[in-house]
Amino acid sequence: MTEHHKILIIGGGTAGITVAARLLRKGHRDVAVIEPSNVHYYQPLWTLVGGGQAKASTTERTESSVMPDGATWIRNAASAVAPDTNTVTCEDGATYSYDALVVCPGIQLDWDRIDGVTDTLGRDGVSSNYRFDLAPRTWEFIKNLRSGTAVFTMPSGPIKCAGAPQKIAYLASDYWRKQGVLDKIDVHLVVPTPRIFGIPAIADNLDKVIADYGIHLHTATEVTSIDAAGHKVTLSALAEGGEDDTLPYDVLHVVPHQSAPDWIKASPLSTGEAGGYVEIDKHTMQHVRYPNVFALGDAGSSPNSKTGAAIRKQAPVVVENIDAFLAGRPLTGSYDGYASCPIVTSSHDMLLAEFDYDFNLKPSVPLLDPTKPHRSYWYMKKYGLPAMYWNLMLKGLA
Ligand SMILES: Cc1cc2nc3c(=O)[nH]c(=O)nc-3n(C[C@H](O)[C@H](O)[C@H](O)COP(=O)(O)OP(=O)(O)OC[C@H]3O[C@@H](n4cnc5c(N)ncnc54)[C@H](O)[C@@H]3O)c2cc1C
Repeated sequence: MTEHHKILIIGGGTAGITVAARLLRKGHRDVAVIEPSNVHYYQPLWTLVGGGQAKASTTERTESSVMPDGATWIRNAASAVAPDTNTVTCEDGATYSYDALVVCPGIQLDWDRIDGVTDTLGRDGVSSNYRFDLAPRTWEFIKNLRSGTAVFTMPSGPIKCAGAPQKIAYLASDYWRKQGVLDKIDVHLVVPTPRIFGIPAIADNLDKVIADYGIHLHTATEVTSIDAAGHKVTLSALAEGGEDDTLPYDVLHVVPHQSAPDWIKASPLSTGEAGGYVEIDKHTMQHVRYPNVFALGDAGSSPNSKTGAAIRKQAPVVVENIDAFLAGRPLTGSYDGYASCPIVTSSHDMLLAEFDYDFNLKPSVPLLDPTKPHRSYWYMKKYGLPAMYWNLMLKGLA
């Protein structure tokens, strides 16, 4: 038997819950969310957990507590989509049909693309804020280091929150400086890009933060393998200016390569053209071949920075356009690529980079220079944004 829902959402993370809440508020009655996990995470705070500034427990809530009243929760994992017959198949073989489909199962962490990482994650100084269970380990390793070498990595290709790999380097350096040990620790930050940030005015100011901490910045380079026994990483040049080298480490913060979920890559929703992500129009968020399919969040092909902040602007567009699609009206909702990257530069400062598809700055607070760190933004990151997320965004109110 195939169960039918007017609007079916794959994924009950940031995007799925936000869209479900907004659809229900708009009066749609039959909204179902396919989500296998019993836990919902606020991932942006994992950076502060790794930096010793927040408790991991404050970043998780039960999925049932965030599922909007009136939504049908299908506790299952989608494994295939057949958009020609409007059906989704789940891992247990159950099938669901829909009038409109929203695809938002997030991004896949491809740990095995760095040789040797899976053998050592969580042990011997190696950790990652990209996993809920490991972010507290990051803090343990940072807290206990008194001298030696610390390496912070960022992989090539799209990742969620491209600022997170550098934020933890700043939080760690700030802590070591407060402990009076920063001058005994060799800090390395390895990034695949030609500069630390894509917007020159922001990169100039982040270069100053990096110089102030005495961090060695390696650009156009990525870590390709980890020798856990020898406590060494191999660096590979990605372009001119990059370095082929090895570095020792006592603490290593690894960010994995990321890609679209394998089952999306293998589905008709992707031809592989857009890196395997769900191929959507970057303004309407509608699928380029299947008009009753929409996507948003980390699994969509729109070339914005993959953040929860982007989803906050995408969700109203998706809801407006589903509404129009189901009523047979032209789609009027348009997303401009807005994303924000809150870069904590110390335990009390943050730079809030807000920009659109064309890297035009889009500051929400016009009085503060958006290219520089400010103390008030740090309070926003630690207290304001989490409260806004749980109480407004997931309820379809922001
Ligand atoms: C360390 C870190 C720091 C970050 N910092 C920031 C920040 O400062 N600011 C910011 O805006 N963003 C930040 N982000 C990014 C932000 O968390 C993500 O961009 C956002 O959560 C993406 O939302 P999503 O709904 O696309 O995916 P997710 O929120 O990851 O949700 C995906 C959901 O889909 C479910 N799912 C997976 N597979 C299936 C399947 N087969 N079938 C059904 N459901 C499935 C998952 O269980 C999950 O619940 C950060 C992320 C990390 C990891």
